[in-house]
Amino acid sequence: MKNEELAPHIKDITRALNGKVSEEEVERELQQWIGSYGVNLAEAKRSIVKKLGGDPQSLFTRTEKKIEDITGLERNLELKARILSINEKDIEVDGEPKKIHYGIFGDDTGTIPFTIWEPLPEPLDKGDTVHVINAYANTWNDKPQVNVGSRAKMEMLDDDEVPEFKREPQRCNIIDIREGMSQLIVLGRVLSVEKKIVQTENGEKELFSGILADETGKVQFSAWHDFELKEDQVVEIEGGYVRSWRGIPQFSFDDNAQVKTFDDDELPPKDVLEESGMMTISQLARRGGAVDAIVDAVMIDIKNGSGLIFRCPDCNRVVQKSACRIHGKVDGEPDLRVKGILDDGTGALTVIISREETEEVLGYDLDEAMQLARDRMDHGIIKDELEDKLIAQPLRVKGNVTCDDYGLMLIANQVREKKVNMEEEARKLLDEVRV
Ligand SMILES: [Zn+2]
Repeated sequence: MKNEELAPHIKDITRALNGKVSEEEVERELQQWIGSYGVNLAEAKRSIVKKLGGDPQSLFTRTEKKIEDITGLERNLELKARILSINEKDIEVDGEPKKIHYGIFGDDTGTIPFTIWEPLPEPLDKGDTVHVINAYANTWNDKPQVNVGSRAKMEMLDDDEVPEFKREPQRCNIIDIREGMSQLIVLGRVLSVEKKIVQTENGEKELFSGILADETGKVQFSAWHDFELKEDQVVEIEGGYVRSWRGIPQFSFDDNAQVKTFDDDELPPKDVLEESGMMTISQLARRGGAVDAIVDAVMIDIKNGSGLIFRCPDCNRVVQKSACRIHGKVDGEPDLRVKGILDDGTGALTVIISREETEEVLGYDLDEAMQLARDRMDHGIIKDELEDKLIAQPLRVKGNVTCDDYGLMLIANQVREKKVNMEEEARKLLDEVRV
């Protein structure tokens, strides 16, 4: 722990001991308790005061922080928070499978993502309130987050010990929607909506999900209440919150939200909004993903596993040398796809192009591709053709962008050659030079 972080606590202990002990001695004690004994700061302070003959009750510089004050540098963080969402994830640590939990903490000042790296002391649910001691914070995409590691302690609190997060609802353009936001007001046109029945811990629930768009972009929404949303309707939702799935922000709202319908001319028509959502790759990286995004970029590489490929009939994995990684020797089913790298000058991402779109690029279908490969006795020929057609080609690609440990991935459902308008490009260049 850094000295400047300890300084206020050293003063606090010295004061609680009425100056009987020097700050230097207190510092030595504190370093020892924290460093050698591995005790958390709050406990160490109480123990030192007790040991040196003072009253631990008279300590007051708390190590506890409010969420809005967390900077991402804290090494000995104490907070009281309400769990706004919690999810489980399987990861591998040194080749061993491990279950971790992640979600969003909230208090009366704000919300913050968290990860709990150790098994839970007891099952935790959305809505539970916890007291976390000895956590640490770091930043991810410039945003602070809380880590509850092996040295941390977590206790359940009574519900009323953490006030609800209450902030004035804020208006937000769809492109600015980020994980962890809450109390949002969003105006958008419903591009699609469908009803699903989902299994929750409280039994079956109706979920209305789809895509909402404004002039700035699109977002997936999840309504946990029947607001009678209809396709093409312009609505304003007040009181939504944002979770994310594989990096894609999901705008969620339940019966606490208010939904108002607006005049149709409040936003451009549906077909115009369908084409909104143009994003640069660096914007996508900052946001962590997007639904139905449009990216203008150049294909700079086509990876192995592109062109005519074979998939395991059991698990759909791509088969290498007639063997599936899981199922061994199998009779692979043929498929076409492209796995490539797109670069738009602001960044790069992996793109996966489905069979239908790959057929579109090639100008022939899977059967013809099979025939061609047989005639030439070379499966690689299709990949070669795709390279000729796509590499260095400016493309407009549309699809969902997810983000995980391997980075951004665009699952393309539409790939179009981008006609380069020389006049427009020249004007853009000039504008950039002028700036
Ligand atoms: Zn398989």
